[in-house]
Amino acid sequence: MFDKSELAFKEAYRYIPGGVDSPVRAFNSVGGVPPFIEYGKGAYLYDIDGNRYIDYVQSWGPLIFGHCNSEIEEAVIETAKKGLSFGAPTLLETELAKEIVNLFDSIDKVRFVNSGTEAVMSALRLARGFTGKNDIVKFAGCYHGHSDSLLVQAGSGAVTFGAPSSPGVPEDLTKHTLLATYNDLESVKKCFAQSDDIACIIIEPIAGNMGLVPATEQFLQGLRELCDEHNALLIFDEVMSGFRATLTGAQGITEVTPDLVTLGKVIGGGMPVGAFGGRAEIMAHLSPEGPVYQAGTLSGNPVAMAAGLASLKKLKANPTIYVDLGAKAKRLMEGFKAAASAEDIPLVTAVRGSMFGFFFSDREVRNFDDAQASDTETFAKFHQGMLKRGIYLACSAYETGFINTEITDAMIEETIIAAYEVMREIRG
Ligand SMILES: *Cc1c(COP(=O)(O)O)cnc(C)c1O
Repeated sequence: MFDKSELAFKEAYRYIPGGVDSPVRAFNSVGGVPPFIEYGKGAYLYDIDGNRYIDYVQSWGPLIFGHCNSEIEEAVIETAKKGLSFGAPTLLETELAKEIVNLFDSIDKVRFVNSGTEAVMSALRLARGFTGKNDIVKFAGCYHGHSDSLLVQAGSGAVTFGAPSSPGVPEDLTKHTLLATYNDLESVKKCFAQSDDIACIIIEPIAGNMGLVPATEQFLQGLRELCDEHNALLIFDEVMSGFRATLTGAQGITEVTPDLVTLGKVIGGGMPVGAFGGRAEIMAHLSPEGPVYQAGTLSGNPVAMAAGLASLKKLKANPTIYVDLGAKAKRLMEGFKAAASAEDIPLVTAVRGSMFGFFFSDREVRNFDDAQASDTETFAKFHQGMLKRGIYLACSAYETGFINTEITDAMIEETIIAAYEVMREIRG
């Protein structure tokens, strides 16, 4: 039933490293071949073998209105007809910027880029340029894109300075990245004790790249206090959680205000868009207003801006969708939990707005160590079983799932029924 995808994958493999343009898509951690997608419509994905799936990945987050939403589609087509790119200012950029500034208390000014990676990389440079300091603190298990200084893993022994997690990244770069433990304030204090050169702390306030692991309010408040005490900036990476957890991401949940925010995914409505913004005094350091250099040939691309704008306007016009999406996410996770417990399989779950996550584990997951202690083999079996039943879940135990507005209660029920079957199969 994956015959065509198998052939397509082999063919892709001959011309593209690993057959994919982003590693997770290769299905390495769950096995099998990735279905090659023919098209999407509403809540459904259709592959080239004619299989249909309920899509809980949604291009890894962006598609909060599902596939081929008519208003977003129309905005893209109408804008594309006027020209694809100019490398000159358009009204659309200001319009989208205005919407974002009005929405986020923490953002006075915002700049658009082409990906989440680029947004974070630029925000870090700005934080360093603004503070005149070099080191950054990041948390194990948080993902902020693939720029050099963020591809770090824990170094040896008691030191918190990171080591490169990929060949090709010089130690000279990662030595400026200190690694701390998520939801553990003491580990962050240790970083400040080791370095008086910390420019910023960057965090996913709702971590979505080690599975779904929200930060506690107390922890975020502690980070804010430490940053203020040491003249460092607090950066919320809301590339995933922005417009996902709530309309304003984690900032709709926490009292803590960051100095800089990075956005992506939903902000482009399916087109490649990233953004970073923050307090006016900080953003004023960005060129051409200030000395910190940052640029992009296709940044603020009109077609991408139009998609983002259409999507954001729909979200603002329907703020109650988060109640509905959240209720569905909760129902789904309760269903998975019941299905697992019917077979005595331990499962822990989390929900934040339209984001959901689950771990095959009997211990609460508060950080990356906890996440890594989960049973990824069982996850792989679960993923395969669900895929066969037309349920498209993220192909790694360390990813987050998403509900979109096209997913109905009946689809949630169908997914839960599939989960019961697969859990039974796993149990044998
Ligand atoms: C996806 C993601 C990124 C990277 O965004 P890309 O568009 O893939 O470069 C950065 N930070 C977080 C929190 C993300 O989820």
